[in-house]
Amino acid sequence: MIGFMGGTFDPVHFGHLRVALEVREFLGLDRLRLLPCREPAHRSVPGAPAQARRMMLESAVRNEPSLLVDPRELERSGPSYMYDTLLSIQAEFPRQSLVLVLGMDAFAGLERWHRWNELPGLTHFLVLHRPGYEPQVPTGLTRSGLFRIGNYKDVFNRHAFGSVVFHPVSQFEISSTGIREILARSGNPRFLLPESVLEMIREQGLYTGNP
Ligand code: ATP
Ligand code: MG
Repeated sequence: MIGFMGGTFDPVHFGHLRVALEVREFLGLDRLRLLPCREPAHRSVPGAPAQARRMMLESAVRNEPSLLVDPRELERSGPSYMYDTLLSIQAEFPRQSLVLVLGMDAFAGLERWHRWNELPGLTHFLVLHRPGYEPQVPTGLTRSGLFRIGNYKDVFNRHAFGSVVFHPVSQFEISSTGIREILARSGNPRFLLPESVLEMIREQGLYTGNP
C-alpha cells in the first residue's frame, strides 16, 4: 500500500506534519509520501514559489525518515491534477494499492477536481477530520455510487481502490492561510510551524505581501 498526502504546503505547518505521522502509524506504512503541488488546479497562485515550498517541506521532515517528500508534481508542467499524479504513482508501483490522504476541507471540494469521477477507480481515500469541517460525504459523491464508504481501514485491504475511510486525527486549528496572514501583518507565527521553516521564510523574505 502506498500512502500519500498532496498539498500546496504554502508553508508546511505542524498541522500537516503531526497528522501525517499519525496517518502513517494508523495505516501501518513504513513511509508516508508528501507531494507538494507545482500549480494548484483549483485555487489561487501560491504565496511562495514551488521550489521554496519544496525546500521548506524537505527541511521540515529532514529528521523524520517516515515522512518522504515526493517531488513528482513539481517535475510536470501545467496544473497539478491529482488524476495525472495517480497515474504516475500507479505506473511506478503497479502492484500496490494507493491511499490518497486528504483533510475534510479538501474532500468536500472533490467534485471540482479534474476527472474526479475517475479517481475512485485509481485510489482509496483516507479523509482526516479537520477543525471547522463536518466529516461527511458530499452528496454528489454519494449520488455517483462510485465511492464505497467504509468504517474500518480493512476495506483498504479487501478492495484495490474506491473506498473512503474517515480518520479522527489530532485536531489542530492551524492553516497555511492563517500563517500567511500573521506574516502579512508582521506578526510572529512561531510554534505553528518548524523553526527551520520559519528561518527560511525570514531569510528569503517570503509571504510579506497579501496573504
Ligand atoms: P491553505 O490554508 O493555504 O489552504 P492548508 O493549511 O489547508 O493551507 P494545504 O497545503 O492546503 O494546507 O493542505 C494539504 C492537505 O493537508 C489537505 O488535504 C488539507 O486538508 C490537509 N491539512 C492541512 N492542515 C490540516 C490540519 N490542521 N488538520 C488536518 N488536515 C490538514
Ligand atoms: Mg488548504
